[in-house]
Amino acid sequence: MRLYNTLTRRKEKFIPIEDGKVNMYVCGPTVYDYIHVGNARPLVTFDTLRRYFIYKGYDVKYVVNFTDIDDKIIQKAQKEGLTYREIAERYIDEFKKDAKGLGLYDEKTWHPRATDYIDEIIEFVDGLMKNQAAYNVDGNVYFDISKSRDYGKLSKKNIDELMEGARIKVSEEKKNPIDFVLWKKSKAGEPSWDSPWGCGRPGWHIECSVMARELLGDTIDIHAGGEDLQFPHHENEIAQSETLSGKPFANYWLHNSMIYVDDKKMSKSEGNFFTVKDIKEEFDLEVLRFFILSSHYRSPLNFSKKSLLQAERGLERLYNGKKNLEYLLDRTVEKKLESEDEKLLEQIDMYKQNFIKNMDDDLNTADGIASIFDIVRYSNSNFNEKTPNHVIQYTYDIILELSEVLGILSKEDDILEDEILELIEKRAEARRNKDYELADGIRDDLYQRGIVLEDTKDGVKWKRI
Ligand SMILES: [Zn+2]
Repeated sequence: MRLYNTLTRRKEKFIPIEDGKVNMYVCGPTVYDYIHVGNARPLVTFDTLRRYFIYKGYDVKYVVNFTDIDDKIIQKAQKEGLTYREIAERYIDEFKKDAKGLGLYDEKTWHPRATDYIDEIIEFVDGLMKNQAAYNVDGNVYFDISKSRDYGKLSKKNIDELMEGARIKVSEEKKNPIDFVLWKKSKAGEPSWDSPWGCGRPGWHIECSVMARELLGDTIDIHAGGEDLQFPHHENEIAQSETLSGKPFANYWLHNSMIYVDDKKMSKSEGNFFTVKDIKEEFDLEVLRFFILSSHYRSPLNFSKKSLLQAERGLERLYNGKKNLEYLLDRTVEKKLESEDEKLLEQIDMYKQNFIKNMDDDLNTADGIASIFDIVRYSNSNFNEKTPNHVIQYTYDIILELSEVLGILSKEDDILEDEILELIEKRAEARRNKDYELADGIRDDLYQRGIVLEDTKDGVKWKRI
């Protein structure tokens, strides 16, 4: 498998540190608000990379942090008269709901929170102090950029130009204009923790370095995030981590391109964002996932309601293809494969190999999806009730297998048994109350969702159609 590494600006063969294992760190949200569509892109993209690694047999350790202490969280808490922790909890809960809708493998994700790692952060900063790579000015501790061997290597920025550019707004405390804060002195009334430098809280960059190190080790396989994090966030993470450990921090740096609305980056500061929660009002979030994966992750993506509607139609075509196969599965029989049948299988296999080839090429999900469409189109026009059951089953299984990698077409249980039984009970009650309109309404509703009810002397039976 080849991945585009921002460090080298090239596609490189992926070689894990340890055979058969991959550890990944993705910068997660600052939990002071709902996540928006722009935030969803790295989450969906790198979740898909994780799924693909699992598909290829890797054991994946996957971390997405929560920044749960930060100026914006503190401001929101003060405004609402709550603690920073209450704000963080609220938006972590909301994140989990969105994650579920987006099909993120969230139950398999480690979600460390910055404030659970305060001791380790202090220890890390202390290590940098001892290495003379950090200095304390009146309770604010800064990283000394001049101690980093190759600052700018990720974002390809020139350190002298950066120094020059930053000179105007230099804070007098710092030795170099682009030194950044590791530990921030607290103002009165702000949440704070004791440290050797007085009461304060961690800066943003340091938490990722610390949590990545604690959970995944000094050197990790893949560090990922949106391309807007390359500088300064990821550059600063590298500077801190490599200065302390003397080892490379991450072997592969992956960055997704941004989502745009009318050629402007979707962001809170532009005010042109849609929250994932907004989208959920009108669309199943699987549509948003499908929309994100329909382009290569390093291509800019233009967002509009129209493009979501297109994605919805595309996804529906795949669902219909899957349903057609389910229909044929029930109506075909097992028989000896003729040579034409073998040809059908070969063709399906070829589409599957295309899928793998595309995903191996820097996670080309756009062409991966095209391969699934190929299978659907091919089976729609070549399979019928005379096709051997084995061929249908084989094709059906491949569609499920490849969709699972992309995290789509997962709604086969879109109505669950519990819900069906509940509705049957509600219908029985309506009938007892002679409310036939409601009873019939429930039956029709179930029928629309692919469930047929049959009234027998032993009670109501149901089956899927
Ligand atoms: Zn980060």
